[in-house]
Amino acid sequence: MKDIIKKRVLVTGGAGFLGSFLCERLLAEDCDVICMDNFFTGRKANIAHLMDSPYFELMRHDVTFPFYVEVDEIYNLACPASPVHYQFDPVQTTKTSVHGAINVLGLAKRVKAKVFQASTSEVYGDPSIHPQPESYWGNVNSIGIRSCYDEGKRCAETLFFDYHRQHNVRIKVARIFNTYGPRMHPHDGRVVSNFIMQALRNENITIYGDGLQTRSFCYCSDLIEGWIRLMATGDDVTGPINIGNPGEFTMIELAENVIDLTNSKSTLVFEDLPPDDPKQRKPDITLAKEKLGWEPTVPLREGLAKTIEYFDSLLKQGE
Ligand code: NAD
Ligand code: UDP
Ligand code: UDP
Repeated sequence: MKDIIKKRVLVTGGAGFLGSFLCERLLAEDCDVICMDNFFTGRKANIAHLMDSPYFELMRHDVTFPFYVEVDEIYNLACPASPVHYQFDPVQTTKTSVHGAINVLGLAKRVKAKVFQASTSEVYGDPSIHPQPESYWGNVNSIGIRSCYDEGKRCAETLFFDYHRQHNVRIKVARIFNTYGPRMHPHDGRVVSNFIMQALRNENITIYGDGLQTRSFCYCSDLIEGWIRLMATGDDVTGPINIGNPGEFTMIELAENVIDLTNSKSTLVFEDLPPDDPKQRKPDITLAKEKLGWEPTVPLREGLAKTIEYFDSLLKQGE
């Protein structure tokens, strides 16, 4: 009987870094979870501990191809998030965001499900307004090497709002700022995983450019809390809504924190800045505070310490 009343939730990209934490949280909230992933960047190890649950189901599938399931809610996370990964096959990256959005929205329309989109601060590009409120339209290069990700996510937002206006699909669009934590892929090339792996191995820490560019880093548990609260809002709250930690750090400050927390002998080396790399980024979270009563609670050094512990255990296992 209990099975009948459980909410069934589809998580695309559910075997990834953030997806695995979301699946875990949804199971804890008594949902029936379908995790869909093509394992491009996701890992079975991220969800191995969920496989024994009778309420967790894994579907190996590529979101760019249609899929037919009966669900109450959908979280659309499928998309590589690290520049190294999304630039590996840029055409597939755009297809994943655009065709993936069309398929989840077609599904949501058919089964009348509520649907969440993992959008990104990259829709603001290299921002000329700081910090970035949701009302800022962004400064994105449409033909650069980051465009497959940025424009793919922008087009996905367009599709979400058009399905909402045209077909009354209930949408929840979150613009996520840089997020870190355990289960990040150790070789995904993102700054937090790179610096921690380098520090733990006492290798040079690679700063791209002068290291004065800034990012705002949100710990994974804070982020998931924001998503759950957004999904629980009434149908009038569609987003887009910034979810991120407004603490702003230069890459040099991040490196110094990582070196300190790992007691590393690493030193900083400066390499070329990749094209179109945003110079600054910091969310304005006024709307999230107002609509969701949400703000992050985990300070950078505390989150880094937990992440370092995870990467250290991976290294000890011979990763
Ligand atoms: P991740 O790479 O760990 O997870 C993405 C997951 O999607 C992986 O499991 C991957 O295998 C899967 N996937 C990729 N292409 C797919 C396809 N075509 N079909 C099915 N599955 C596919 O990245 P993450 O950090 O967990 O990011 C999750 C989502 O959040 C992404 O949509 C990302 O764009 C968004 N996001 C993340 C951040 C961040 O800092 N982590 C910031 C902004 C937005
Ligand atoms: N779709 C899907 N699962 C569903 C319903 C639709 O994958 O349960 C896909 C379908 O293949 C279509 C896309 O979602 O290509 C958009 O669906 P929609 O109904 O909006 O468009 P249409 O089918 O009319 O082109
Ligand atoms: N970065 C760096 N060293 C690295 C990896 C990244 O200095 O080893 C820089 C990168 O140039 C960018 C910032 O760190 O300015 C964040 O990079 P990441 O790839 O993590 O995320 P994004 O650029 O998408 O915000």
